[in-house]
Amino acid sequence: MIDLQHLSYTYVVDGRCVRVLDDINMRVQKGGVCSVIGPSGCGKSTLLKIIAGILHDYDGTATIDGKPICPAQQRIGFMPQNYGLLPWKTVRENIELGKKIRHETVQTEEVVSMMQHLGISAFSERYPLELSGGQQQRVGLARAFLLRPDVLLMDEPFSALDAITREEMQEIFLSLWQEQHVSTILVTHYVEEALYLGQKIVIFANAPGRIAEVLDNPLFGCIDSRSKTEFFSMSRYLRERIRKDWRQA
Ligand code: ADP
Ligand code: MG
Repeated sequence: MIDLQHLSYTYVVDGRCVRVLDDINMRVQKGGVCSVIGPSGCGKSTLLKIIAGILHDYDGTATIDGKPICPAQQRIGFMPQNYGLLPWKTVRENIELGKKIRHETVQTEEVVSMMQHLGISAFSERYPLELSGGQQQRVGLARAFLLRPDVLLMDEPFSALDAITREEMQEIFLSLWQEQHVSTILVTHYVEEALYLGQKIVIFANAPGRIAEVLDNPLFGCIDSRSKTEFFSMSRYLRERIRKDWRQA
């Protein structure tokens, strides 16, 4: 379980303190998937960087399965906003990187099967800059899931994709998540994505970033949920909620 209690974070910019996260309390159950949605600049990426163990000097507590965050001891898969691929490494090497950094043996069959699942086998010896944005996102996803993480953090993983490709990627994500049941936090600025992929939806407000509302999503996992009337009404509710906080900021 991911557990954040009274979590706050302050950046120091030109000697000035700017609080970007204020008293965040949230929990993601083991094997659960939670989407986080909110206006640009409300601290979503900062939140993921804290849970990934990249930013340390926060106030409050942040634990994974009851232990303080420590990437050396916990298996944390982090897919940053720019996918985090190393341009000088091939697709295959990038996918293997997460395990190699941890000095773990990489099983060739596992890599091959992951590349097949994500439809990137044909590019295995290419470099990231020779791929489209969508293909790079698939590589990032393959790397994250190959690690079989305890916690998966995804920062706007399917942005910059056309609507159809984004929906394909959401299906691929769900099929991998169902296989591994990894506790996941997925940051998105697409209302429909938050609704389609989140069991729980955390709505953030801005300046400083804080939780405005947490919703349990009754539509999660429903077959064909995107075409249900409730999907449209919940989308409308989420949009209005986010807009309201945006105006107040
Ligand atoms: P989001 O991902 O929701 O768009 P971020 O977490 O990236 O928001 O940023 C939250 C706020 O913190 C923004 O106002 C941003 O400008 C500021 N910020 C982000 N990174 C830094 C940094 N390294 N130093 C100072 N301010 C930062
Ligand atoms: Mg961000």
